[in-house]
Amino acid sequence: MNTNPAPTLPALSPAPVVERIETMLVDLPTIRPHKLSVATMNGQTLMLVKIHCSDGAVGIGEGTTIGGLAYGGESPESMKLAIDRYFAPVMIAQDATRVQALMARIGKMVKENRFAKSAVETALLDAHGKRLGLPVSELLGGRRRDRLPVAWTLASGDTARDIAEAETMLDLRRHRIFKLKIGARPVREDVAHVAAIKRALGERAAVRVDVNMAWTETEAGYGMAALAEAGCELVEQPVASARALSRLARRFPVALMADESLHGPESAFEIARIHGADVFAVKVEQSGGLYNALRVAAIADAAGIELYGGTMLEGAFGTIASAHVFSTFAHLQWGTELFGPLLLTQEILETPLDYSDFSLAVPAGPGLGIDLDEDKVSAFVREGTRKITGIKD
Ligand SMILES: [Mg+2]
Repeated sequence: MNTNPAPTLPALSPAPVVERIETMLVDLPTIRPHKLSVATMNGQTLMLVKIHCSDGAVGIGEGTTIGGLAYGGESPESMKLAIDRYFAPVMIAQDATRVQALMARIGKMVKENRFAKSAVETALLDAHGKRLGLPVSELLGGRRRDRLPVAWTLASGDTARDIAEAETMLDLRRHRIFKLKIGARPVREDVAHVAAIKRALGERAAVRVDVNMAWTETEAGYGMAALAEAGCELVEQPVASARALSRLARRFPVALMADESLHGPESAFEIARIHGADVFAVKVEQSGGLYNALRVAAIADAAGIELYGGTMLEGAFGTIASAHVFSTFAHLQWGTELFGPLLLTQEILETPLDYSDFSLAVPAGPGLGIDLDEDKVSAFVREGTRKITGIKD
């Protein structure tokens, strides 16, 4: 007979859980109209989600789209509603330290909604990084670089104004890769616009274009040949169809990049399978979150597809979440376009981001490594319940 008393195990401290989730819409003015083939943006709305955990850790994530619903099926307003009504009940009281398990739980209860999921995953990782004292990049496998090259988009549509803007950026040593948004005008006019800009900048800068799916396949055939001739080095998503992209790939001496047709790992695998692109524009929100963006990059590497870090023109939180992800990529042959915060006129961080020497610094502090300035942001938070009285307050 065993007379030994049962061993007393030390009491396990319970894992911190998600206690409270706050969402807000922040309407911020932009420095200039941003013209795309699908929309012209005159401001940007950030959906910020704050996750409060029982151990006091608080994480912030961002969901942002381009031109409201002009780009995809989610808007900042729809993300806020989805999180308030559907994500929050699934998350409250769950272990906040098991981010992937919690995201899988959310995935069972909420289909689609990739941007909202990305915002929530960012906030969970920010909180967990702060809890452990580690940057998000280290939670994602470890950064390989501390600075990321950042392209700038010239989107005024006016050739002389775009050249002047590029010259200013070169003088400031802020950008030397320029992406032109084209596709709203006839192909020949667009090609002339791009050629004039490349002629003016010469070897001092790289010129690329984003057509945002505006061309037919035959227009793309003419356009890509003419753009290659003009010294443009990369054409982003000239047509909508992944099949048409694959027929255009490698026909012209200019790299072809998939953007809109890339919706996370499954689509990445499919495009790779049909040799549908030379380069992937990996977007964290479009991929459905930070871990999914890593999966997209792994598929690209395995298929010999090159990588570029894309943006949804996010503010600081979405941009820095992306920066942490891109800093871990084994290859980042085409740099990034993480310039979203530079389009906004209002600083919402306690310490501004470091854009210098043609690049963005990946913050080194715990979590995302950035802090929201609550006072500054409060003036721009949309209050759905505010009464419009016509009296200036
Ligand atoms: Mg694009």
